[in-house]
Amino acid sequence: MTRRIEKVAVIGSGIMGGGIAALCASAGIKTLLLDIAPFDLTDAEKNDKKAKNRIVQAGLDAQLKAKPAAFMNKNVDLTLIELGNLTDDFDKLGDCDIIFEVIVENLKIKQDLFAKLEKVMKPGAIIASNTSGLPISQMAEGRSKAFKEHFLILHFFNPVRYMKILECIAGPETSKEVCDFVSKWGEQTLGKGVVWGKDTPNFIGNRIGVELICEAFKLIEKGLITIPEADALFGKPMGMPGTAIFGLADFVGNDTIDHIAENSYELLTKDEYREIYKTPKFFKDMMEKKMYGNKTKEAGGFYLSGKTPDGKKFKKVLDPKTGAHIDFDMKATYPLVEATKDFKTTGEKMKHVFKNNEFARTLLSSMCVYSANRIPEIADTLVEIDNGMKMGLCMGIRTIRNVGQSRT
Ligand code: NAD
Repeated sequence: MTRRIEKVAVIGSGIMGGGIAALCASAGIKTLLLDIAPFDLTDAEKNDKKAKNRIVQAGLDAQLKAKPAAFMNKNVDLTLIELGNLTDDFDKLGDCDIIFEVIVENLKIKQDLFAKLEKVMKPGAIIASNTSGLPISQMAEGRSKAFKEHFLILHFFNPVRYMKILECIAGPETSKEVCDFVSKWGEQTLGKGVVWGKDTPNFIGNRIGVELICEAFKLIEKGLITIPEADALFGKPMGMPGTAIFGLADFVGNDTIDHIAENSYELLTKDEYREIYKTPKFFKDMMEKKMYGNKTKEAGGFYLSGKTPDGKKFKKVLDPKTGAHIDFDMKATYPLVEATKDFKTTGEKMKHVFKNNEFARTLLSSMCVYSANRIPEIADTLVEIDNGMKMGLCMGIRTIRNVGQSRT
């Protein structure tokens, strides 16, 4: 069968759906973007298409304003994107070659959508869910054999345009032809790096990444290192961007980290690291105070940035002992970070930090052992985990190979 993607559909125009639509349109593909009609329409608005498309329009507008830019070209041909709502325009899904489901992370709502979708989609169309962790078998429950053969998870990371990774998870019945096709299409047309994972909780990137973050929480609670020093060590010296660990948690959303950690604790009952997913009190307190990170500007997260009444910029950091944000020296230098500048390669820098810092040693050892022990549970080889970390958590280097490969 010769498959061509001439038109895609994206259902859900939130952070991820909007981002996927922007990516597809940037690749020159006709894109149908749908979302729910608002629940609070007045009687007068019930026949007003503009009012019914309010949510999807807001989704597109958010992408047009996104910083960094979600579209690859400022002058993107917006006629490539057709907006609609799920009440009036559902049948338009019938001529789409691939349909991305990018709606709220709720199994029942997704299952209901797939049941409706099965009635209108054209034979052979691919259906891809962007779920962060719902099992493929449960999402496809009750669907036909043909549906299941064309159904898989294509998990983009946020921000969609910039995160290289595309985690692909096939179900037991997904056809090989569909898997081979999406791998090639994802890489060649969307410019992504494909990583095949398995249908296990939180797949690869989030499973390993959140283990690392939760372990870091424990070490911070023990007082092994301060948050700014931990981030300084795990930035450039480790081949990661400056957001490192705690800045990254603020960027992703501490509520999302909390959700993944809780979900892991609940589902991974036989996981030898299960207790790590029980986050410490200071983090639970942060969740109570809605300190979700960059998205909660006033409350902040691990960091709090803002301007004083006289217009001066400030940045504070969380003191895990008191739960308050305190001043810190943003220009502080750390001897070990400075020492890494003498080494040329990231591998050498990492080894130096590993040898000389207990926090880094404990954290990296824990992540490497955890990763090694996840084969073949979450992936067939370490290569997928390495690629997942490299492309999904911005680790600029192959962590496991640089630090060592012992399996304990
Ligand atoms: P979001 O809240 O930004 O968007 C969710 C969309 O679902 C909204 O457009 C909303 O209008 C729509 N929606 C709400 N109720 C609906 C219903 N009953 N029927 C149909 N649509 C409905 O969420 P998001 O972050 O874009 O997440 C969407 C999916 O992507 C989820 O499955 C999430 O787990 C996954 N995901 C999120 C991220 C992330 O970092 N945010 C990363 C990877 C995957």
